[in-house]
Amino acid sequence: MKTITLLIPAYNEEEVLYKLYDRLLTVMEKVKNYGFEVLFVNDGSNDNTLSIIKEMRNKDNRVSYIDLSRNFGKETAMIAGFDYANGDAVVIIDADLQDPPELIPEMIKYWEQGYDDVYAKRRSREGETKLKKLTASLFYKILQKTTRIPVQKNTGDFRLLDRRAIKALRKFREYERYTKGMYSWIGYNKKEILFDRDPRAAGKTKWNYFKLADLAINGITSFTTAPLRFSALLGAIISLSAFFYMIFVIFKTVIYGADVSGYPSLMTVILFLGGIQLFSLGIIGEYLGKVFSETKNRPLYFIDEYNDNKVRNE
Ligand code: UDP
Ligand code: MG
Repeated sequence: MKTITLLIPAYNEEEVLYKLYDRLLTVMEKVKNYGFEVLFVNDGSNDNTLSIIKEMRNKDNRVSYIDLSRNFGKETAMIAGFDYANGDAVVIIDADLQDPPELIPEMIKYWEQGYDDVYAKRRSREGETKLKKLTASLFYKILQKTTRIPVQKNTGDFRLLDRRAIKALRKFREYERYTKGMYSWIGYNKKEILFDRDPRAAGKTKWNYFKLADLAINGITSFTTAPLRFSALLGAIISLSAFFYMIFVIFKTVIYGADVSGYPSLMTVILFLGGIQLFSLGIIGEYLGKVFSETKNRPLYFIDEYNDNKVRNE
């Protein structure tokens, strides 16, 4: 019998866990002929998330969990889950029921047809503000323009991955993670299914615009080096125009003589160039920062407990 791991990163999700478990139970009962492993990754929650998970595990031995030593963020929680998942396929699903578990049977159907990555694409984004929708679409546009790897628009982490895709993803040990880029990077047979994303069932989103901007910058800089080239190109264009302007100024001075006016134009040019230099430095800095955190080569996470056992870090 094949087993399917349901991988659920959870950070302060006490309000939704029972509801989630109920919905998962219904789905697991419907899908016969498969074993299930419900793998929670407790990402350093400071509410009752862990004790609720333990309580579920006592009643249902399909439930297992890893408890991270602190909050590492969803991206890291997911790689921890990949490392510990035992199933022949893994379904990544958010704890807050924004990803409807009822889609899992369909994912399994396509998996059985030979697809390695069955990802759910959002038809609508209910419960999200206009601004979030706008920034999201802008982000995807920029990302797709700057890379040759196909970007999956409006898809999240909600997907079924075959074991070989999981094994591939385990090899990505980079510290600043953008998992959505990795799914595209590894390739394999992909299948898209559509769904309507529900609003969060309860609790609060852990995202804010700072985190979102962080993920967006991280997404672009870990996916492509196009911004570096862009700043070089911008520099080239500006110096070229400056060169022609210089020739023009020289001739003008020779023919008409020098005048002292021109302070405003001088000021704008200086400020403009100063701005561009800082901007380009910032871009270089982003990549340099990446190099810095990757060269430290730290472990990605530490685990406090795995299925009722303390992990000792040998
Ligand atoms: N999550 C996590 N660690 C974090 C933040 C979030 O494991 O530091 C989990 C969270 O419990 C949920 C999923 O990641 O299962 C998505 O988080 P959230 O719903 O807050 O994000 P959104 O759906 O708003 O993008
Ligand atoms: Mg959510």
